[in-house]
Amino acid sequence: MPASTSSRPGNANAGPPSLVSLALSQALTVDNARTLIFYVVLYKYTLRLWRHIRSFGVTASIHQVYVEISRRLFLLLMKIPAINRKVTRELDAATKELEDKIAPRITTLSSNPTLPEYGRDRDWLMTALEDALQKDGQMIWKGGKISGAVYHGGQEMSDLLGDTIKMFMVSNPLHPDVFPGVRRMEAEVVSMVLRLYNAPETGAGTMTSGGTESILMACKAAREWGYRTKGITRPEIVLSRSAHAAFHKAGEYFKIKIIEVDVDRITRKVRIASMRRAINSNTVMVVGSAPSFGEGIIDDIDSIALLAKRSKILCHVDCCLGSFLMPFLEKAGLPSAPFDFRIDGVTSISCDTHKYGFAPKGSSIVMYRTGELRRHQYYVQPGWTGGVYASPSIAGSRPGALVAGTWAALMSMGDDGYTESCKEIVGAARKIEKGIRDEIHQLRIMGRPMVSVVSFCSAGSVNIYEVGDKMSAKGWHLSGLATEPPAIHIACTKLTVPVVDEFLKDLKAAVKEAKTRGPPGSMVQLYGLGSSSAGPALVGEIASRFLDTLYLVR
Ligand SMILES: *Cc1c(COP(=O)(O)O)cnc(C)c1O
Repeated sequence: MPASTSSRPGNANAGPPSLVSLALSQALTVDNARTLIFYVVLYKYTLRLWRHIRSFGVTASIHQVYVEISRRLFLLLMKIPAINRKVTRELDAATKELEDKIAPRITTLSSNPTLPEYGRDRDWLMTALEDALQKDGQMIWKGGKISGAVYHGGQEMSDLLGDTIKMFMVSNPLHPDVFPGVRRMEAEVVSMVLRLYNAPETGAGTMTSGGTESILMACKAAREWGYRTKGITRPEIVLSRSAHAAFHKAGEYFKIKIIEVDVDRITRKVRIASMRRAINSNTVMVVGSAPSFGEGIIDDIDSIALLAKRSKILCHVDCCLGSFLMPFLEKAGLPSAPFDFRIDGVTSISCDTHKYGFAPKGSSIVMYRTGELRRHQYYVQPGWTGGVYASPSIAGSRPGALVAGTWAALMSMGDDGYTESCKEIVGAARKIEKGIRDEIHQLRIMGRPMVSVVSFCSAGSVNIYEVGDKMSAKGWHLSGLATEPPAIHIACTKLTVPVVDEFLKDLKAAVKEAKTRGPPGSMVQLYGLGSSSAGPALVGEIASRFLDTLYLVR
């Protein structure tokens, strides 16, 4: 810059500059620099804001501002003692209700807040364990009046898994030299699932502790991939509002910005045009579900994968729930949709063996199109004082018993077994769907479900959460959905198959009863709160108190 050259005191040609011009030129330099910095910062933030609005759309962005303002306003109001006292009192009452429901005082069970001074004998333990088992809601799930939760493979399968777990109780895949049998079983399970999902020869995967860990790993791998191959330091993932919460968890854990786009109001599939608009140079991955947890709808995976391919980014398919149903739909003679590695742009898939694979809980698979992609998932620490450390996923030590249990489940079911269970379970869902469409006109099915979940909203005359509360009163454990419009769902399992007719009968009655308003039940209360303006803050507080309740010893 000429100004700074001429003002440099040591410059021989210019001679000693006057004090005034020196001061002036230095001021200019500082000013210039300041202006430059100002414009750089302005550019950076404008770009970020522009991208944000482009991704989320104007309406959603304004809504986000509104939610943030109302959240802050709520926190401000809470500083006023009178209001604070009132809200706290109500929250405490809600907490007490929660505690009595989640952690009731059970007088017949002994309370054990501290380690017993002397170890208990086996008889004492067995009695205490039996007691706990009785309290463990067996009546709830064995009767099948429950959505998802227990993905039972039948009594014979339970016995087999129990025996297998017992045999491999101490094994730990962290030490393959000590447990080569378990290493082999894990490799075989991953290979079986890769083939089931039509992975190419280059395909690779690992076992994890569940769908959440599989998704966390796929997101972490995408972030690493974006950084190492494209230098992306502010990674973003674009997904549907219907995608699983685990992606948001990954966003928070791994500092990835999660961009949600809307679903189509009729098909309930993610809007491809919105997804395209949300992709920018920071995007590392797009996500589709096959099917989604809430509404049970399969996104247009081939369109999502095509977007990814064109933008040269990754595409994850969440088949956590689709697990061992999606790959068997065709063989079972049921309608299907493209979902696996046969679609060119799909780069990773998560599949929960512990759902419709009937493996013991704590088992899932994450798969990648290539071994290189899987590398981005690994954690390697060559310089640790405890020795060279390398682990494929989040956990260090892992339960080999679950690896063996998963292997046993897959081997005993086989292709024919899963085809049969797919027919049975998806058949139950179709029967429920048809029953609602044909006979319960106060309700409307969301989209066109193809797999095990059927979700439904009000057709106008009833409050759907009231229906949910009436179903709870009849002993059903269904899930409320905070969708637009509000809905509830049932995820069919083997346990649902024998109770389909009872479900439809109860649902018809529940719809009738919901019309005659009573005091609001818990589903109405919880979901009603969420949509009020202080709602998100309050629901968040109640959810945290719920988690506190889990660790209550009484
Ligand atoms: C169940 C589920 C997950 C997460 O699985 P967890 O095993 O509960 O961690 C992810 N995505 C979908 C669609 C699911 O249904």
